[in-house]
Amino acid sequence: MSIARRISEIASRLPSETRLVAVSKFHPIETIMEAYECGQRIFGESKIQELTAKKDRLPSDIEWHFIGHLQTNKIRAIAPFVELIHGVDSYKLLQAIDKEAGKCERTVGVLLQIHIAKEESKFGFSIRECMEMLEEGSWKNCRHVAICGLMGMATYTDDKEMIRDEFRLLSGLFKEVKAKYFAGADCFKELSMGMSDDYPIAVEEGSTLVRIGSGIFGNREY
Ligand SMILES: *Cc1c(COP(=O)(O)O)cnc(C)c1O
Repeated sequence: MSIARRISEIASRLPSETRLVAVSKFHPIETIMEAYECGQRIFGESKIQELTAKKDRLPSDIEWHFIGHLQTNKIRAIAPFVELIHGVDSYKLLQAIDKEAGKCERTVGVLLQIHIAKEESKFGFSIRECMEMLEEGSWKNCRHVAICGLMGMATYTDDKEMIRDEFRLLSGLFKEVKAKYFAGADCFKELSMGMSDDYPIAVEEGSTLVRIGSGIFGNREY
């Protein structure tokens, strides 16, 4: 199946409030251009070097999202252009993004990554850590970051009910955080959840951004 066909099939399954992030990691410029020519404008990458190299060779109206694990010493390279950083999982990282975005006189959108899967992973706030950070309040001094919502990944499993429960947990947290800390703030509106295998469930549970790679571009060659 062609990229165009896959994109249009996915798009037909998304409600109007849900946007598609085409995860182009490991795929070459020509492949990304195929998706671009179908009208796709949001692309996600997970490695800084790969992202900056591609960005320079692709049209400037692409909205780039960083979806990988970000190290503080690499923020500078993407701060001038990145639209949304999906995986912020510490206050230290939030502050570091704020500093680099400030130097560029920009505001960078970020999502707080929450660890919802049963798998062990170093990445993501626990719900408690996230609430503690928000409650503590210093994040409000980070004027060059806009906290736009939450992001999470479900357990890699065939158990659809387990996946649904995890997305539902995240969706509930999203509503709680929005009501408690971002009431009236327009920016807090994104819930990034769902990948190639589980995005239909994520959409049913309220996702506004699905991150789809192999479902568009086929398998990645690492
Ligand atoms: C690679 C990646 C995706 C896309 O995964 P697919 O299964 O290929 O759709 C989504 N989110 C994150 C954080 C990723 O690293």
